[in-house]
Amino acid sequence: MYQWTCASPDETIAFAETLSSLLRAGDVLTLEGDLGAGKTTFTKGIANGLGIKEVVSSPTFTIIKEYEGNLPLYHMDVYRISGEEDLGFDEYLEGEGITVVEWATNIDDLLPEDYLEIALHHVDSVTRRLTLTPHGMRFEQLCKELIDYECSSH
Ligand code: ADP
Ligand code: MG
Repeated sequence: MYQWTCASPDETIAFAETLSSLLRAGDVLTLEGDLGAGKTTFTKGIANGLGIKEVVSSPTFTIIKEYEGNLPLYHMDVYRISGEEDLGFDEYLEGEGITVVEWATNIDDLLPEDYLEIALHHVDSVTRRLTLTPHGMRFEQLCKELIDYECSSH
């Protein structure tokens, strides 16, 4: 488990952008945290890092949104999905893009063996605690590469 504290939305975006630069085709990230924890904000940082110019908005109603960048970004919010529903998630999870899943516990069985689990917790109105739990060697390595990253520059 690896933890960072981000003291503003911009710090969360900057952290995600840095993480994004370490990602490769096919990587899967899961985002957990209450409503308003910052899952979609974090995804904006991932998108920035992939050179995506389009504004990333919450896919709560569309469930899946696709963006074109240096790598494609598949942004899912499966909050409303129950276990039995399948909207072709496999195609995305096994695709060449980066898949970011909000509320991934709802599609637990579909997740690959290797993925990076990211939990966001409210500390106060502008501060969030980010906990990264790597699943698999590849993400263990990626977390180690981030270890010296400091969210606050002061
Ligand atoms: P979620 O997708 O988890 O429901 P959002 O990213 O849509 O959350 O919303 C998070 C809200 O919290 C945004 O309004 C954002 O500006 C605010 N916020 C405040 N501080 C932070 C922070 N440190 N990191 C991320 N978001 C923050
Ligand atoms: Mg969201």
